[in-house]
Amino acid sequence: MERFFQELQNRKFVVPKCKNCEKHIYPPRNFCPFCNSKKLEWVEISGMGTLYAYTINSGGICFRDETIGIVELKEGFKILTYIGKPIQELKIGQPVKLEYIEIETKEGKVTLHRFVPQK
Ligand SMILES: [Zn+2]
Repeated sequence: MERFFQELQNRKFVVPKCKNCEKHIYPPRNFCPFCNSKKLEWVEISGMGTLYAYTINSGGICFRDETIGIVELKEGFKILTYIGKPIQELKIGQPVKLEYIEIETKEGKVTLHRFVPQK
């Protein structure tokens, strides 16, 4: 996960991809959970996908009543992520895209990712 967060600070969303079975691995791991291969390479994703599911997480850490959801990426795998819109503005299956946000923490600014509807 460390590499993932480092790259995120440079506004890059990268995940390991298995060189053996070609699957993306998220959350990142040191080996492929599909074929157990350790031959992985980090690749940047397109940031394009569709909204698969969403809900409200009341009393979240970063935002109040944050929207979270599952996005199915163009690359063919799903991730759990923040969604940058209230649920009233969302629809299952709508196109969404990656965006980066900066939040203040006690340790300084941190870049996080979330998905928002495509225009
Ligand atoms: Zn594999």
